[in-house]
Amino acid sequence: MSGGSVFHARNPRTGEQDYSFAVPTPVEIDEVVARARAAQVAWTAAGFAARIETLRAFGRELVARKAQIAAALEIDTGRRRIAAMEVDSVVGSIEGWAAIAPTLLPEGWTAGRGMPDVRHAPQWAPYALVGVVSPWNFPLLLGMIDAIPALVAGCAVIVKPSEVTPRFAAPVIEAINAVPGLADLLAILPGDGPVGQQIIDRVDCVCFTGSVPTGRKVAVQAASRLIPAFLELGGKDPLIILEGADLDAASDAALRGSVLSTGQACQSIERIYVARPIHDAFVAKLVEKAKAVRLNWPDISQGEIGPIIFDRQADILAGQIADALAKGARVHTGGRIETHGGGRWLLPTVLTDVTGDMAVICDETFGPILPVIAFDTVDEVVGLANDSEYGLSAAVFAQTPEAAEAVGRRLEAGAVSLNDAALTALFFEAAKQSFKASGLGPSRMGADGLQRFFRRKALIANTGRPIPISAFREEG
Ligand code: NAD
Repeated sequence: MSGGSVFHARNPRTGEQDYSFAVPTPVEIDEVVARARAAQVAWTAAGFAARIETLRAFGRELVARKAQIAAALEIDTGRRRIAAMEVDSVVGSIEGWAAIAPTLLPEGWTAGRGMPDVRHAPQWAPYALVGVVSPWNFPLLLGMIDAIPALVAGCAVIVKPSEVTPRFAAPVIEAINAVPGLADLLAILPGDGPVGQQIIDRVDCVCFTGSVPTGRKVAVQAASRLIPAFLELGGKDPLIILEGADLDAASDAALRGSVLSTGQACQSIERIYVARPIHDAFVAKLVEKAKAVRLNWPDISQGEIGPIIFDRQADILAGQIADALAKGARVHTGGRIETHGGGRWLLPTVLTDVTGDMAVICDETFGPILPVIAFDTVDEVVGLANDSEYGLSAAVFAQTPEAAEAVGRRLEAGAVSLNDAALTALFFEAAKQSFKASGLGPSRMGADGLQRFFRRKALIANTGRPIPISAFREEG
């Protein structure tokens, strides 16, 4: 039981445990839950417009503290530009939901077809209390990506960020406290797995973003309570490059899709399949571009690659590279975990002579490793791409959009980027679900992103006379 203990967080640029925070006790969690449930009654009754006004005020308080929040995220993650973008993205999401939410919850009466005198109307009944459990790779963004639409829906929310990246919570809590009435409705409680379990034991619905093993535990716990669990889990996204594709564009997209955020993104490209006739030309371009990528060390305002945020992740990356080399892979760039100033880094690591039995092809990598495999036929590559326990997203490059689409339609993944890669990191409007072990539940984007926080209640009115029991009397 972690409640009440003091935790320490590691600075990914220095390796130092330079931050400590107290994990909430079960009694403290109970108090937060009681306040949230009490406040939610008026929150949902206040109506959509009032809730949006409150959330806009929250957005203004976040903007007023952008420097402090981004600075905390910068230490959490060891990167500067993406830290600032996380804040902008959360503020932008408030306006995004404000713009579309009113159209997503239709009301009003519909005439019955089977019984003409009976009409029905939906009521959208929000879950009172939503729990959000989030990972360390985008600490603010992935805490708020579910919290904002849940609040718009009229729920109260408790967010439990990862214990690996807790620093951003303090300035965001300040922003929450500056908005009258919001503090009881939106709580941020950094803590470890046991804190997550205690929260799941107390909420009406859980949104979880994290690894497949933890996701399974969350699903079991939620199932035992008969509450819904929306799971956004890991991936092993393939990129397919067909003959005739623009190799400059494909290599740009492959590199960005694999290396952005040091590959610490669920939708990172982790397997690259290239048509054999263009394999060598593609690899030459990819290697040339990969060699130009720089660490953001020692100057955080330079370079494209930050440190590996979670120390243990560096060991996983080192293990996958060692396994690939032992089985015959060839390293063209990177290939070695570098230690600078106590932090651990990996430059883009392009691998060829890769085979399907290597961990770098089977297991989630979550780092800037780009294994490239040649293929001969479209049927073969569709089979290879689909041969994974994961089904988060995928990408296809071809000479024409139609050719890319034809292959994309055959891939078992929730989102497929055509003539680009990892577009779900940049484009948030398309509804998508996670296939296979990559997740469970409705889409976080699009109409479902809001509707999933409601139970659909039916009001069914008879405008005629009720049918008497005699209509069901046995005859004969
Ligand atoms: P993780 O599963 O180790 O932890 C995620 C969160 O769960 C943390 O807050 C952790 O404290 C908490 N937790 C741990 N045990 C728990 C338990 N038994 N009950 C409740 N909560 C518990 O994941 P991580 O290492 O923080 O994040 C990396 C993983 O997240 C990768 O697999 C990545 O692909 C995935 N991810 C998925 C998405 C997506 O949208 N699909 C986005 C980002 C990250």
